[in-house]
Amino acid sequence: MGNEQPTSMVISAGRVVTCDLTRATSADPLHVIENGAVWVKDGIIVLVGTWEQVYQAAHGVEARWHFPKSVMMPGLVDAHTHAAWVGSRHHEYVLRMRGEGYEAIAKAGGGIVASRNAIREASQEQIADVLRQRLQRMMRAGVTTVEVKSGYGLDEEGERKQLEAIAFVSKERDVPDVVPTYLALHALPPEYRERRAAYVDEVTESWLPAIAKAGLARYVDAYLDRNAFQLDEARPMLEKAQQAGLGVRLHVGQFADIGGAELAAELHASSADHLENVSGEALGKMAKAGTAAVLLPVASWTLGQNPPPVAQMRNAGVKMVVASDANPGTSPTESLWLAIAMAVRGYGLSPEEALLGATVHAAQSLGLEQQAGTLSEHRAADLSVWPVEHEWALVQPWGLREPQLVLKNGNVIG
Ligand SMILES: [Zn+2]
Repeated sequence: MGNEQPTSMVISAGRVVTCDLTRATSADPLHVIENGAVWVKDGIIVLVGTWEQVYQAAHGVEARWHFPKSVMMPGLVDAHTHAAWVGSRHHEYVLRMRGEGYEAIAKAGGGIVASRNAIREASQEQIADVLRQRLQRMMRAGVTTVEVKSGYGLDEEGERKQLEAIAFVSKERDVPDVVPTYLALHALPPEYRERRAAYVDEVTESWLPAIAKAGLARYVDAYLDRNAFQLDEARPMLEKAQQAGLGVRLHVGQFADIGGAELAAELHASSADHLENVSGEALGKMAKAGTAAVLLPVASWTLGQNPPPVAQMRNAGVKMVVASDANPGTSPTESLWLAIAMAVRGYGLSPEEALLGATVHAAQSLGLEQQAGTLSEHRAADLSVWPVEHEWALVQPWGLREPQLVLKNGNVIG
């Protein structure tokens, strides 16, 4: 497409849901502009306002789109995915539906280790091809920024191959913005079963510094749980990552509360994710530290778990993010919209909380609040337009709904 795309355009809609917290009020938490419009120039939003305000100010406009009965949203931000997987784990899904538990499946060589084997067998190019197609499908549904974790390599070469595939795809023009996260402490590879400490040491002392030096990750993550990694195993790696300038996100409390949320708060981590099992005290610490709670309702639904303590999070003032957790095992979906719908139906988030959680709060948790997550001036022109009269209609889409327009950096996504 390239040069054929207009560089100056006006898009107007019946309702413009800005998610601009600087203009939001308690009565209008999403800051919605009725009969609103945006003026986009060179991929950046230069003005947001009413039809009249934008039509009067915009000049040199090459394209106009008018959707008087539609809702315009910021491009969605998916802050927790494992989207760089290859292969399928449908066999273990069927086992789970027959009543086998997550931990039993993992012990039988399924789970993360099954995806590890698939990654080891795939070339970097094959991983990149699958990831590109997956990210493009996400973008066609209005998701314009995606965090993508490694964690299916589980050795130096495999983790690097995954991160290089992520880096390769993220340089392309027709994919969402990608935030890469290093998750070597995702699962203990079976060959290290008798040498746990050696695996953690290699990740910490050897692989991490090389990944950081190569600029292949912006964040590190670790899976902290009773059958995953323990706090004292992960802490040195997390501290070392911070010293190297990387941010921290953590898988915490999915099956048991082993104190991961407290560690996240202590390290001022950007996010603690899952949190099905977490204490009120830890939530208070997270709020104080500015650590966001990333909620993953599709995963807990797949596993038949109780929701996290959302009311306590709300009362503690913890920022709530909603993410897909796209992965081939516990959240076999690419749909952030499905996670939004389940956050409302299963977790009790208000529609406004769910939409903020997949836009501005998600962008904040990724350190991207100056670029993404809101329809406001100076942000990237990432947006989508939906054939519904109100944004509440967007939080209950069981199945597929197609946007009328998606823009990524001002480019029309077809
Ligand atoms: Zn995850």
